[in-house]
Amino acid sequence: MIKFLDLNKQYQSIKDEIDRELFNVITTSAFIKGKYVDKFEEEFSDYCEAQYCIGCGNGTDALELAIESLNLPEGSEIIIPANTFVATAEAIVNTGHKIRFCDCDETNYTIDIESLKEQINPNTSAVIAVHLYGHPCDIDSIAKICQKYDLKLIEDAAQAHGARYKGKRVGSLADVAAFSFYPGKNLGAYGDGGAVVSNDEKIAEFVRRKANHGALKKFDNDIIGRNSRLDGLQAAVLSVKLKYLDKWNQTRREVANLYKKYLESTNLVLPAVETWAEPVYHLYVVQTKTRSALINKLEENDVQFGIHYPISLTKLKPYKNEQVTGHFFAVKSDGLILSLPMGEHITENDIATISKIINSP
Ligand SMILES: *Cc1c(COP(=O)(O)O)cnc(C)c1O
Repeated sequence: MIKFLDLNKQYQSIKDEIDRELFNVITTSAFIKGKYVDKFEEEFSDYCEAQYCIGCGNGTDALELAIESLNLPEGSEIIIPANTFVATAEAIVNTGHKIRFCDCDETNYTIDIESLKEQINPNTSAVIAVHLYGHPCDIDSIAKICQKYDLKLIEDAAQAHGARYKGKRVGSLADVAAFSFYPGKNLGAYGDGGAVVSNDEKIAEFVRRKANHGALKKFDNDIIGRNSRLDGLQAAVLSVKLKYLDKWNQTRREVANLYKKYLESTNLVLPAVETWAEPVYHLYVVQTKTRSALINKLEENDVQFGIHYPISLTKLKPYKNEQVTGHFFAVKSDGLILSLPMGEHITENDIATISKIINSP
């Protein structure tokens, strides 16, 4: 069997360090706030080449907190690409805003710049640029449009920890960025976790307050807050894993290069890497017009795969009335795309096997 994801194999490779750190958190009772969270927040903002990092409960909360930090007009529209994880859309509605979809590029799958321009209207207040599948968006072009129309820009970097745009890390490229540490992400905790990253002191302070009952220290509850915190056990796990992230991401890029080498001559459409991008391949997504045949072959040979995402958001019940998006590539692509196994657990042998399966009659 070739696994889509192998978190246990990863754990075994760092077990001693992880076990020691978990033990330290428990024996010092540093469960909420405290030194392990402080340490990770500092390490992760440094890693993102940004000023501030605030841990929170999960990536969806991070998006909500990021949106709230921008003080956008109530009921205003936020533009997102039509193919993203559902959380990007949820966060907009749950903070009192409206979704407007734009299309995505046909081979790098991130925001299509022309489509983004077409969706801007007087009620637009912000754009969420999703670095989907670990490939950074064309953030300079998006930022230029945002500047022209006075829109705020949020990065959804939940799939792109460590990716670079023109040499700069994602997470430091917009007004504010949201990360998820869901276990299967490139940097994943052993449970839920998330973070907001920004270079803006006011945004950082708002998020820190909001996510901690409205208070920076005990009983200075200045605003109506909520409870969304990264806990000490997760922070300790993330600190250990962060040391290996660049190495793991490099292995993912090598796996992608091998896929290219082995699959280039097939009729699969392989993911593009734009000149501005150093991607981190959270997912390795291919397109094929004969997906059900490919699925049969993979299933028969015990190769795990995924589809991200099988139903475009614009067809899902709660979102489908938002806008007519019938001509979008992002909408028709849900019948073409398939995610092959990707991660630092994949070997050249696995890829040779997968290629043989794909090439079999
Ligand atoms: C995973 C993910 C999220 C949400 O993160 P959770 O930690 O699961 O809440 C948001 N956006 C994208 C693009 C994601 O992949």
